[in-house]
Amino acid sequence: MSKLKLGLNSICTHVGEVKDEQFKGAVSPMYLSSSYEFLDVEVKRYPRYFNTPNQEFLSKKIAALEGAESALIFGSGMAAISTMFLAFLNKGDHLVVQNTLYGGTVNFIKEEFPKYGIEYTFTNGYSVNDFEAAIQPNTKLIHFETPSNPLMTVTDINGLTQMAKSKGILTSIDNTFASPVNQNPIALGVDLVMHSATKYLGGHSDICAGAVAGSFDHMDKIWHVARNFGGSLSDMTVWMLERSMKTLGLRVKSQSKNAMKIAKWLSKHPDVSRVYYPGLKSHPEHKIAKSQMHSFGAMMSFELKDYINAEDFQKSLQLIKPSMSLAGVESTVISPHLTSHALLTQEERDAIGISDGLIRFSVGIEELKDLKQDIKQAIKKAQKTEPVLNN
Ligand SMILES: *Cc1c(COP(=O)(O)O)cnc(C)c1O
Repeated sequence: MSKLKLGLNSICTHVGEVKDEQFKGAVSPMYLSSSYEFLDVEVKRYPRYFNTPNQEFLSKKIAALEGAESALIFGSGMAAISTMFLAFLNKGDHLVVQNTLYGGTVNFIKEEFPKYGIEYTFTNGYSVNDFEAAIQPNTKLIHFETPSNPLMTVTDINGLTQMAKSKGILTSIDNTFASPVNQNPIALGVDLVMHSATKYLGGHSDICAGAVAGSFDHMDKIWHVARNFGGSLSDMTVWMLERSMKTLGLRVKSQSKNAMKIAKWLSKHPDVSRVYYPGLKSHPEHKIAKSQMHSFGAMMSFELKDYINAEDFQKSLQLIKPSMSLAGVESTVISPHLTSHALLTQEERDAIGISDGLIRFSVGIEELKDLKQDIKQAIKKAQKTEPVLNN
């Protein structure tokens, strides 16, 4: 089978299967051993060495999807990102990092880096020039996110990696929002790709996991640090993740299709003031998104007009769940100011355009007409028709 050139859904279904040699079952057996023979074996296996059979083989699926030589699976997206950073940044090194970024990553950098003596600069924006302007002589890594959470800003991946390469600086991307279905950054020159597998790779809101993919050399560096930090994933969850990823292509394509249609519909809706979605022609980086994404993903944000109470809107939804996290087969909404960006100050949120009325929408696989119906009725219920009197 290794000789066939496989397409997306075949990779999702088949690459990285653990063969059931004993009983010839159709799916991967689950190896729960935390103890493996060490005499006369090629690989000394141990869960925290990230090399149990299920871990090793699922890594191959993720590497294949990202067009990478190698990959590792972690216990969470933050375990993946923290291990990746600390594998390439030593005391005295400098990280350039995008200003609009997943809130957990921002917290990690601000709270932990000073303890390690690692320096960092947040960019003033997300264009290649913004990243270049933040570079210092000791910059070792540029980390970015496109499309980014929660305003769906898009950065020119190839432009950024060319600039970084010309200065001998590594690049890492958080590819969680696009997923490997919609964006393959390694082909565009990125050195390291990370995912919160809790999101699209898992896809059913029942797994917490992370992944990093890159070259053999880079992944070997990460692996050494990973063994020390110990952020490995249990084989039971690895097995579940493998099962979930068989439908990754089907799910994300269907979700992205729904999202494109809903974004167009919302952008014409009289009660919606703004829609942030890279697939809309009105998105400032629509052309860049079109050139580097296969489709535009299933994440968007929108602002309701100010006569609509955003919290009442979310409470009035019947099908769409106001729920933390994202990327499940079910549609969910959140207020970023209450969740992912809650730890930022009001000023910091204002500076990056995250208003209290902003709603982030993770579009699921439900029927399009049902999603529209639900939004319609919730908007109607959340209209502040009369001034509220205090008594
Ligand atoms: C959720 C998320 C993370 C963190 O992943 P966990 O699995 O929660 O640790 C990182 N980046 C992005 C874009 C995310 O959405």
